This record gives sequence, C-alpha cells and structure tokens, in this order.
Amino acid sequence: MIDKDCIFCLIAGGDIPSDTVYEDDEFRVILDLNPATRGHALILPKQHYADLFEIDEEVLAKLAVLAKKIAGAMKESLACDGINIIQNNGAAAGQSVRHFHLHIIPRYENDGQKMLWIPRESDPEVQKTLVEAIRAAL
Ligand code: 5GP
Ligand code: ZN
Repeated sequence: MIDKDCIFCLIAGGDIPSDTVYEDDEFRVILDLNPATRGHALILPKQHYADLFEIDEEVLAKLAVLAKKIAGAMKESLACDGINIIQNNGAAAGQSVRHFHLHIIPRYENDGQKMLWIPRESDPEVQKTLVEAIRAAL
C-alpha cells in the first residue's frame, strides 16, 4: 500500500526528489535532510508500513541485509569510526514520520552527537517480573 499523504511514500516512490544513494524495487536509501552526522542515511521501504509492528517480516529481513550493505559502503567511503543503527517507533521513542525507516548514522570521534541512553541501576526483582511478562507475551 502507498499512502499519498505520506511524505516518505512520495520520496520512496520518486514523486519527491531526494538524495538517493541506493534504490531497488522495494527500497530507497536517502540522505537525511537534517543529518545527525555526515552521511546520515534512511532506508525506506517503498510500501507504507507505519512502524515495526506493521512491517511485513519478509520485507524486514531484506531490509536488515540492505542495512549491512549500506553500513559497509559507509565504512569504506566515509572513513567513519563507528555506525549507529536506530529505528524509532511511536512519538515517545522519537518517531516523527509514521512510515517505517531505519536510520544508519555514521559516527566520528568527537562528532559532538549524543545518541546513547543514561544507564540506570537495575532491581533484580523487577528484572525477574519483566522477564516473566515479556516471555509470556511471546
Ligand atoms: P524519526 O524521528 O521519525 O525517526 O526520523 C525522521 C527523520 O526523517 C528525521 O531524521 C528527519 O530529519 C528526516 N526527514 C524528515 N523529512 C524529511 C524529508 O523530507 N527528506 C529527508 N531526506 N529526510 C527527512
Ligand atoms: Zn508512507
């Protein structure tokens, strides 16, 4: 399904121009308009899925392989020191565009970005409850 009101559907389909680094029948990989770092890219499926909960599993599997390919090309071409792969689901997690996309963010020593979380203490009893809850939902 393509949603004509979705900006990433329009970009992925080529109706809106973008800085495309890769395209095939199912995906387009573009540079982010407001990059976190030099070379920050987004993998967009051409079909519309709002988030991880909606995306087709076969598409997701192909997307993972493509992410590895793009990350490898960045490592080779951009002389980056590391790469973050981030995928946001829901406003609380920072998702601003409701069309599934994977961020591939090259990292450079001292690039001034902060993308990691603040680690907190864990409580063994709470961890046990969490394990039980998640396992029961699988
Ligand atoms: P999210 O916050 O949903 O995980 O990420 C959305 C990303 O899309 C942001 O990094 C934002 O800069 C990028 N973005 C939003 N609109 C456009 C656009 O029209 N073109 C491109 N290339 N990137 C966009
Ligand atoms: Zn869309």
